[in-house]
Amino acid sequence: MTQYFSFRILKKSRKSQARLGIIKTPHGQIHTPAFLPVATQATVKSLTPADLRQIGFEALLCNTYHLYLRPGHQAIKKLGGLHKFMNWPGPIVTDSGGFQVFSLGAALEQGVGKIMGFFPGRTNKPAKPVKLKLAEIDEEGVEFRSHLDGSLHRLTPQKSIQIQEYLGADIILAFDECTSPLDDYQYTKRAMERTHRWAELCLKAKKRKDQALFGIVQGGQWRDLRVKSARFIGNLPFDRLAIGGALGRFKKDMFRILGWVMPELPSSLPRHLLGIGQPQDLLQAVKFGIDLFDCVYPTRLARHGTFLTHEGELNILRARYRTDKGPIMKNCSCYTCQNFSRAYLHHLFKSQEILGLRLATYHNLWFINQLMRKIRRDIRNGKF
Ligand SMILES: [Zn+2]
Repeated sequence: MTQYFSFRILKKSRKSQARLGIIKTPHGQIHTPAFLPVATQATVKSLTPADLRQIGFEALLCNTYHLYLRPGHQAIKKLGGLHKFMNWPGPIVTDSGGFQVFSLGAALEQGVGKIMGFFPGRTNKPAKPVKLKLAEIDEEGVEFRSHLDGSLHRLTPQKSIQIQEYLGADIILAFDECTSPLDDYQYTKRAMERTHRWAELCLKAKKRKDQALFGIVQGGQWRDLRVKSARFIGNLPFDRLAIGGALGRFKKDMFRILGWVMPELPSSLPRHLLGIGQPQDLLQAVKFGIDLFDCVYPTRLARHGTFLTHEGELNILRARYRTDKGPIMKNCSCYTCQNFSRAYLHHLFKSQEILGLRLATYHNLWFINQLMRKIRRDIRNGKF
């Protein structure tokens, strides 16, 4: 860690690997374990930075792939960097662009349109047996087509770091190859070795001192590969570590993989579990010692009219809510629940009014942030 970054563990749970900590960045602190809302196009869809602050979020994650294609990293640099561009004063994480290139780019080529359930945790649908042909990957990088206009682009470890340096987030990610749960052992092994070589290139390519770099552990659902990858990446001079890639086909696979990987990672560095965000998964993963999460799950769900509650998911479009005077969730102190009935929200979604998306997103992110707060409080009080 440098003068710009530090990670302090304040308390460790006695019953699990859970820990309470603070990450210091040039744009402020992140109290961990923390959830980072995803601001794909430099915006958390439908919410303002003021909303996000009010909900209590300290940091966000933006997608390099999308911002590179539009408006472009050079444009964002000229406009003063990502923080200024989107008026978010707190810490920002950018991903490497790898995940989107391997999912969106490849999907477009195959006419799939959108990956559903291909990378578990990124969506809430079960995995479909679609085989991606990642023909354009070579040892130096990956060639892909823009999902916007079909134009041809090339991403390499060096290019990904350069783009992320232009964007100017506080925390950036190494460029990795994200395999699918359907890739076989041999392919996953080759991809992991490539990711390791790319990790070293990313470290070499990095110039800015005021950005921390995450290394990413790959290895699919194979124990020997995951352990090897965790040891390799854990021994490189990264500022922190992330667990990415195929986490198996089912939820139980994911926790088995965490059980292999976590003991191999240096405990002094923050650990980020990429793309996971369902409430029960957050609770479980914290027990394995995960400090950071990001996921489109709560915000995407909201835009489909589904609200997170302590009783599970509530789809407001159901007819039974048409005349329901109650709030989405009793005892929820969010703006949505304090001011609007289920009947009104049902009406907004039925009429496809924009306010419905906004109020639902607000509640779901509030719900997730309250959950993270409770997790932190319980670790602090020795009750987790
Ligand atoms: Zn609420």
